Amino acid sequence: MIAETTSQKAQAYYEQAEALYVSLYGPNFHHGYWPSPDDGTTYEQALENLTDQIINRVGAGARDRVLDVGCGIGGPAIRLARTTGAQVVGISNVATQIEQATASASAENMAEQVSFEQADALGLPFPDESFDAAIAIESLIHMDRDPALREVARVLRPGGVFTAADFCLNAPVTPARQQVLDRYRDLDTLSSFHLFDDFPPMLRRAGLEPLELLDASSHVEKSVKMWWERTEADLENLTNQYGEQELSDFIGLFDDVITHGGPEYLFFTARKPTSPRPPQNRP
Ligand code: SAH
Repeated sequence: MIAETTSQKAQAYYEQAEALYVSLYGPNFHHGYWPSPDDGTTYEQALENLTDQIINRVGAGARDRVLDVGCGIGGPAIRLARTTGAQVVGISNVATQIEQATASASAENMAEQVSFEQADALGLPFPDESFDAAIAIESLIHMDRDPALREVARVLRPGGVFTAADFCLNAPVTPARQQVLDRYRDLDTLSSFHLFDDFPPMLRRAGLEPLELLDASSHVEKSVKMWWERTEADLENLTNQYGEQELSDFIGLFDDVITHGGPEYLFFTARKPTSPRPPQNRP
């Protein structure tokens, strides 16, 4: 028997969960970002704000070619292209997402600047050093970080910048919270959780130099309540499309995350060095 890879599991998950995702997030399959927890920003605006946090950090411009690793149905890639003028290539391992993202780029007259392809992030179909910058919004959460980061480092040109939004843990967790995390991982086909402090060495192992790591948990934590409200508001439709059991699993998870806390949330930015590292064995 051939074991199912993490990528195949995530693929099957996203194929099945697409209706729920579109209902919860629209074209942005990620958390919202609020300037402060009691801020009045709407959910729709908060979803775009999170993309903007990534766009501002990656700092791409009109002459750049940018890779979006795990692009969902294309909301962030199209926004990045529109606001910076960059050429953007989005990849996802789910064919229906690529179809939807491509249709959205055409509908928004962005097809000349943004394209989408089905591909596995762990084996990118691009030559070495073929991108000026890269982003990954909540896609590394499904991947073994070491090989995924190595692939990003490979396709970046020297000096190229990579910004990601990822899950992490800030400290060893209580048993109650560990149960929630296990449930989250199973239900959302997540890969392992890593400590915040593990990220700098992880980035260096992949050949990337960390520039900034930021715990953004307090800015995104309102998202879970929003998922809850949206799911309740669209319950009948979602139950029909998705099935009662799956939906109640998700609602149970949202409740657990609100009560016990889910993973922490970080933004990190790293750069591929412009010259090889100096030899380490000098006295
Ligand atoms: N970045 C997008 C989507 C986030 S959802 C957004 O913010 O809207 C996570 C995405 O990662 C999905 O598109 C999923 O299909 C993709 N993904 C997960 N594992 C992948 C892999 N191994 N290769 C390519 N894409 C992957």
